[in-house]
Amino acid sequence: MKILVSKCLLGCNCRYDGKNCLNEKVVALQKDNEVIAICPEVEGGLPTPRQPGERVNDKVMAKNGADVTNEYMKGAQIALEIAKKEKIDLAVLKSKSPSCGTGLIYDGTFTGGKIPGNGVTSELLQNNGFKVITEEDL
Ligand code: SF4
Repeated sequence: MKILVSKCLLGCNCRYDGKNCLNEKVVALQKDNEVIAICPEVEGGLPTPRQPGERVNDKVMAKNGADVTNEYMKGAQIALEIAKKEKIDLAVLKSKSPSCGTGLIYDGTFTGGKIPGNGVTSELLQNNGFKVITEEDL
């Protein structure tokens, strides 16, 4: 299969805090599949480290109050272009992220609370017919 994955799950230090979310099950996917890694927030032009962001209705806000919706949407569009060009079979994206989360995301209050929902990249991929799961589903 051709699988799009969140770059931080492969050990890339692209998370907002400059760390990664290395996941051995995602790493193991590389053995029998063609894996394409992307970090939508970095693709969207945000630096690492960066302010954490959370979805607030139709926007994405940084913890310092900045509206980073455009950067998050740009990253989502780039992910979609790659998914289409590569004709991916599946995306395995980082759970709960405002970009990559699928099914459950942080609630926009920066207090660790979670609500049902999708990150902007996951949502755009799903709206275009791509199957998205999280590393927790593996
Ligand atoms: Fe990982 Fe996605 Fe956040 Fe990038 S945007 S650090 S790939 S969860």
